[in-house]
Amino acid sequence: MIATNIEKINEKIALAAEKSGRKKEEIQLVAVSKRFPANKILEAHHCGHTLFGENYIQEAQQKKAELPDSVKLHFIGHLQSNKAKIAAEIFDMIETVDRIKLAKVLNKQRALTGQKLPILIQVNIGNDPKKSGSTAEETERLAEQILELPYLKLSGLMTMPPIEADPELSRPHFAALRILADRLHEKGLFPEVTFPEISMGMSSDFHIAIEEGASIVRVGTAIFGERQPL
Ligand SMILES: *Cc1c(COP(=O)(O)O)cnc(C)c1O
Repeated sequence: MIATNIEKINEKIALAAEKSGRKKEEIQLVAVSKRFPANKILEAHHCGHTLFGENYIQEAQQKKAELPDSVKLHFIGHLQSNKAKIAAEIFDMIETVDRIKLAKVLNKQRALTGQKLPILIQVNIGNDPKKSGSTAEETERLAEQILELPYLKLSGLMTMPPIEADPELSRPHFAALRILADRLHEKGLFPEVTFPEISMGMSSDFHIAIEEGASIVRVGTAIFGERQPL
């Protein structure tokens, strides 16, 4: 079941890429496994999928202990500074850095191992009061500050636009994030990557995000099914 779902998503990714004149290899699928047990991740991994997204530190820490190193994990939830130390240890990328205090804790933790941590800045592109993230205006300054931290690799931007009934309504937000990433890239704020990563799009709207330039899409429900409420 999970394998078939991933196959279907990969086909939709290929179609959306083709439609917008891009290569499907430019787009990475993060399978969002929050609130599903480690054996579901292993099931997907046995079919060849390697990249997963988690939202909760304690939950991810427990699952991580059951997973081989070949499983790669992105953190995509809201990260409290007091959990950042553990996050720096178990994740391959933190997609939701939205303040310098958090970046400093992550940097300090990776300084201990000497291994740079890839991160994205989470941008609240729709100025949604219910979402975290730096505002579009604050993002340039935050990027400048992060570039001073030697153990972080600033790799791009991530967003969660306001939830809309019609996924087409997310398109302007996706376009805005892409324009912001391009502008910051031109200013030299992503010196360690050839192209900045742009993480946007979920189960209902990832095809639109790809048309607007997403390089990472985060898909949960369409792969693992409906989540149990907390
Ligand atoms: C849960 C979550 C997703 C996946 O959402 P689905 O609608 O289940 O695909 C993507 N991104 C973030 C940040 C999430 O918290």
